[in-house]
Amino acid sequence: MMTKDQYIESLRKLNLNLWMFGKKIEDPVDDPVIRPSLNSFAATYELAEDPQYEDLMTATSHLSGKKINRFTHIHQSTDDLIKKVKMQRLLGQKTAACFQRCVGMDAMNAVFSSTFEIDAACGTQYHQNFLNFLRRVQDEDLAVDGAMTDVKGDRSLAPSQQADPDLFLHVVERTPEGVYVTGAKAHQTGFVNSHEVLVMPTISMREGDEDYAIAFAIPTDSKGITLIYGRQSCDTRKLEEYNDIDVGNKMYGGHEVLVIFDHVFVPNDCIFLNGEVKFAGMIVERFAGYHRQSYGGCKVGVGDVLIGATALSVEMAGAAKASHVKDKLIEMVHLNETLYCCGIACSSQGSKTKSGNYIIDLLLANVCKQNVTRFPYDIARLAQDLAGGAMVTLPSEADYRHPELHAYIDKYFKGVASVSTEDRMRVLRLIENMTMGTAAVGYLPESMHGAGSPQAQRIMISRQCNMEMKKELAKKIARID
Ligand code: SF4
Ligand code: FE
Repeated sequence: MMTKDQYIESLRKLNLNLWMFGKKIEDPVDDPVIRPSLNSFAATYELAEDPQYEDLMTATSHLSGKKINRFTHIHQSTDDLIKKVKMQRLLGQKTAACFQRCVGMDAMNAVFSSTFEIDAACGTQYHQNFLNFLRRVQDEDLAVDGAMTDVKGDRSLAPSQQADPDLFLHVVERTPEGVYVTGAKAHQTGFVNSHEVLVMPTISMREGDEDYAIAFAIPTDSKGITLIYGRQSCDTRKLEEYNDIDVGNKMYGGHEVLVIFDHVFVPNDCIFLNGEVKFAGMIVERFAGYHRQSYGGCKVGVGDVLIGATALSVEMAGAAKASHVKDKLIEMVHLNETLYCCGIACSSQGSKTKSGNYIIDLLLANVCKQNVTRFPYDIARLAQDLAGGAMVTLPSEADYRHPELHAYIDKYFKGVASVSTEDRMRVLRLIENMTMGTAAVGYLPESMHGAGSPQAQRIMISRQCNMEMKKELAKKIARID
């Protein structure tokens, strides 16, 4: 396995074509806006080096028998699925941010089982191609991003019916050696911190969409790929002279980018789906299922930090003993642990696929993510309720450090006498960061839309819920023939 430092050094060797704020970024590793997201990703390497987390952070490869980082593992049991969720909660607690590496893990598990079944049905060689890729990922401990979401253009039209054919990523040229693809993937979490990208189709497809039913893996700095960094609320605070208190979470963060593929070459042996339209939906459903499980881990860990920050803020204000305050903190815990219950439940009820790896219970994973589209918002609302208005009206750190203003701010933002004003400011800024600043991107809208927007889960819930069986149960009790 790579150490954290080796991982960071390996990123320096990538030659990404990355843009942010209208400028080309030559050194993403040391860029102050991007670096917190790298630190989060790097935590997936760092914690794997720590013996106390060995059981959660590492696994034994079913291919090589070697010890590997769990983020590159193909789940061999429901126990593996449960450990995955626990690992994600741990990393959420340590970073209070999106640590990004789950997308690739979920994509690899989805493509592993899907390629096995596609080959059995179509006589293709995709599973072997995928195994070769996976072996390299595990042996070299590579960071893999999973890329699914196309920009989609007019949502009422199929990929091949769009006015602009590039609104869904597709094959534009075929040669004996491979294919060339053009299109874009939006909202790509962690792409800048990844060595490889595993591209998958974004929706179920039908006849006529063959050029769009394409899955493959290539290096993130492949020729023809352009990255445009997504900006986040309050991101430029990281560039200010005083950038400690006001950023809330200085060390960690997440990122998303728009990934543009302009006539990018994909060699034949890196292709995992190529025109078999009826299997596009299988990859989508499985990836989404795994990632909906993931949120029952990562968002819970982030929630732990937000609940802790809120409890500190009320203690610092001398309000911790009020009964409504205690009750609201309990409500936050109840909501957060409900998400964890869902993550553990869909894992423990997982099952073996034809390829041998384990998949979560899809109904329960979709219920998990449906709750994730709501509960973090409720938790954030309660955090803002308890933190009070100072969270958004505090003077800047620059004012706090100014010799003429420091004493005033220190005096008038004091809570209980035993706590320094600076510590109180730090906690309030952390709550601001997590509910409205850069970290809120990962905790709130990502909870809403990541791994699919709420309606996508409702469609899956309606498909998986077996309403006919429930009607039969009722008829029997009501004595209806
Ligand atoms: Fe992992 Fe959560 Fe980020 Fe998805 S949102 S990549 S599950 S940390
Ligand atoms: Fe996500």
